[in-house]
Amino acid sequence: MISADVAVLGCGWAGLAAILGVLERAPGATVVCLDASEEPGGLLRSERICEHTFDVGGSHIIFSRDKGLLSEILGLLGGSAVEHERKAFVLLGGVKVPYPLENGLYALPPQLRAEMLVGFVEALLERAAAPREPESFGEWARMFFGRAIAESYLIPYNRKIWKVDPDEMAADWVHTPGRLPVPDWRDVVRSGAGVETRGYLEQARFYYPASGGIQRLYDAALELARSRGARFLWGHRVVRVRRDGGRWVVNGLVEARKLLSTIPLPELALALEAPEHVLRAAGRLRYNRVAVVGFALSREAPGEHWVYVPDESVVFHRYAWISNYSPANAPRGSSTLQVEVTLRPGDPVDEEKLLGEVVEGLDRLGVASYDHVKLARVWVHEYGYPVYVRGHNEAREEVMAYLRELGVVSVGRWGSWHYWNMDRVYKEAKAAAASLLAP
Ligand SMILES: Cc1cc2nc3c(=O)[nH]c(=O)nc-3n(C[C@H](O)[C@H](O)[C@H](O)COP(=O)(O)OP(=O)(O)OC[C@H]3O[C@@H](n4cnc5c(N)ncnc54)[C@H](O)[C@@H]3O)c2cc1C
Repeated sequence: MISADVAVLGCGWAGLAAILGVLERAPGATVVCLDASEEPGGLLRSERICEHTFDVGGSHIIFSRDKGLLSEILGLLGGSAVEHERKAFVLLGGVKVPYPLENGLYALPPQLRAEMLVGFVEALLERAAAPREPESFGEWARMFFGRAIAESYLIPYNRKIWKVDPDEMAADWVHTPGRLPVPDWRDVVRSGAGVETRGYLEQARFYYPASGGIQRLYDAALELARSRGARFLWGHRVVRVRRDGGRWVVNGLVEARKLLSTIPLPELALALEAPEHVLRAAGRLRYNRVAVVGFALSREAPGEHWVYVPDESVVFHRYAWISNYSPANAPRGSSTLQVEVTLRPGDPVDEEKLLGEVVEGLDRLGVASYDHVKLARVWVHEYGYPVYVRGHNEAREEVMAYLRELGVVSVGRWGSWHYWNMDRVYKEAKAAAASLLAP
């Protein structure tokens, strides 16, 4: 039996941040982290194949509106990061509209942008005349962006990524200050009148590791945690967690005084043999898998970072030219393209069929032709996106209340069941480590 002060379940980005948090507050503490995968990285894993680097958990960039947090995260890379001005687009009716769409209206033909602007102003007036809470995510989109923007872009795009009708989704996750940018009406009017504007400014500049893909960031944190004494057990899926005389015993292999988890809440509830009502609540938490289809292409990338595709006849919701994130991601004269598709958990995954559909979509949209493909790969992550169906908050709270009662701290994208980016995960996981050690 391995003995430690703290056992951390799941060694993804959240697990690493939590470990760093523990070791900052309690240098010399013994920490052991268990992860189901044999390959470190979680969603931040990268693979290098034939001189092309793929971020196999999807296109990842480093950004944050919290400048202190951003510089702490970038500090892990020791200055080896590339800074970019975002070149992201929404592909609408054959036009690449600069992202976010409401700031990029100026790129659309006058008839269309007028229609979107009218819808936006109508929604603004309706909100001012009768303020109310949106009842669903779909309603929120119509209330804050107007019918034309919602119905031609936000609703189809979100239906595609979440695999749930936005009218069936909760509104609370977007209708709170902070998660998604609500546009400044002045900018939307300017943009509708044909003037170039910019939105979602905290992401307008972003960073990316100079080499090694996004995993370079993960590896830097991993090395730091190791250098401070943390121990990692790869290939150990957590299946059993029990209490024994005031200590936690994980898989009968690790015993520790404190337990911090970043694994998906339903898996933790099962491992703890939680009571029936907690297991049922955990079962109500919805998520989607993410499939990443990577291509090494024998042509250079256009001057774009990523493009959102609301067109529902195309299987993917986004593609990204990650060779533009770092020149080290592809040899000169060629490019690395990644495409993201969400899948419902439990649905059979036919990788060959998926690849065929992606290639057909890329060809039809004029993104890439099959003749340029040197190599193609498909990676499927079981846990890609938490889905905010109605009742998600109550379900999450029921599980969290049970964990709090036991004194188990759970954090991270899956440990909190929140659609959090790396910056938020890092911050919350460090804060969770502090709460774990509080007397
Ligand atoms: C397509 C996509 C694009 C994204 N783009 C960005 C971006 O551009 N910028 C950004 O900041 N964020 C982005 N994110 C979010 C970012 O990936 C997450 O915030 C972050 O990786 C979450 O870390 P985590 O440790 O909580 O989860 P994960 O990375 O999923 O790690 C969980 C770990 O737990 C392990 N595990 C699971 N079950 C068990 C078990 N039973 N026992 C033991 N181990 C287990 C897994 O193997 C994994 O290593 C993106 C996410 C996706 C899906």
